[in-house]
Amino acid sequence: RAKSAHSNEPCFYDSQMDDAVRERRELIADLRTAIDASAFELHYQVQATIPSGEIAGYEALVRWHHPVRGMVPPSEFIPLAEKSGDIVPLSIWILRQACFEAALWPNRHKVAVNLSPIHLADPRLIETVSSALADSGLPPERLSLELTESAIIHDRRFALEQLARLKAMGIAIALDDFGVGYSSLDVLRAFPFDRIKLDASFVAEIETSEQAVSILRSVAALGTTLNMPVLAEGVEQPAQLSIVAREGCGAIQGYLIGKPSRTLADAEQVRRIMALKPQIVSDADADV
Ligand code: C2E
Ligand code: MG
Ligand code: MG
Ligand code: MG
Repeated sequence: RAKSAHSNEPCFYDSQMDDAVRERRELIADLRTAIDASAFELHYQVQATIPSGEIAGYEALVRWHHPVRGMVPPSEFIPLAEKSGDIVPLSIWILRQACFEAALWPNRHKVAVNLSPIHLADPRLIETVSSALADSGLPPERLSLELTESAIIHDRRFALEQLARLKAMGIAIALDDFGVGYSSLDVLRAFPFDRIKLDASFVAEIETSEQAVSILRSVAALGTTLNMPVLAEGVEQPAQLSIVAREGCGAIQGYLIGKPSRTLADAEQVRRIMALKPQIVSDADADV
């Protein structure tokens, strides 16, 4: 019988927990095989500027087609890889793959790559990024890295140094999922991000919550003041586009203009969708 580490009390596991532990272990083993076999694929989701509808870039989102389980979402295997210590090799593959693919795009748009906090803390990151750019021929100006605030919580000084080095190379740095998790305004003071990505959970509520609109408006104003344009994530409805445009966001990303896909969203089509947003009546125009 298993004993817990800190007492003489025996530990009781229910069989469900056993299953969960076994499943996790199996998934980690599969993940290692998959990294070795490069069994991942990058999908790209378009980001577009308000109000022109011009393409601002494409975000690379990793996909894992598991031989038995089918599609395992990144929200499941990225945290697992971060805990098991497999995130750095996976992250290197993602970074190189994104650079090599983007270098072949017929357009010259930016590619945005999500960077795990653990990879940011890796002293070899700068070398990894330089060689990904050099080997693929992608100019640094076409690469953007997306980080969440959690990236600069642990060993903050080193994280900020790494970000400064990347920025000095000409790479853009975006603050991802702003407004949730460990959110604090302090992070905006700590580093000159090129863009703030407001988390999709705010956009999800702007049609029903005045409070969500107020927050959106304030973050957009703050970003504008700090010279960090705000991109609204998770825009699905034309009405949501109207509101985020009215409240001063500089760009959007979301199913409305394109889902993540192997095929890059067409610029003309994106422009057309963004031009179709319904006219919204501003407070000043409203006749009561
Ligand atoms: P994220 O970086 O915030 O990426 C945006 C997520 O929102 C993506 O989910 C995207 O498919 C989804 N999304 C975009 N527009 C909409 C919309 O209009 N409605 C809804 N409901 N969802 C939308 P995905 O691809 O499942 O990725 C989830 C998270 O996993 C990402 O959040 C990111 O944190 C992480 N992730 C994905 N790919 C990578 C990667 O290559 N490296 C790292 N380190 N993390 C990754
Ligand atoms: Mg992202
Ligand atoms: Mg995000
Ligand atoms: Mg996210």
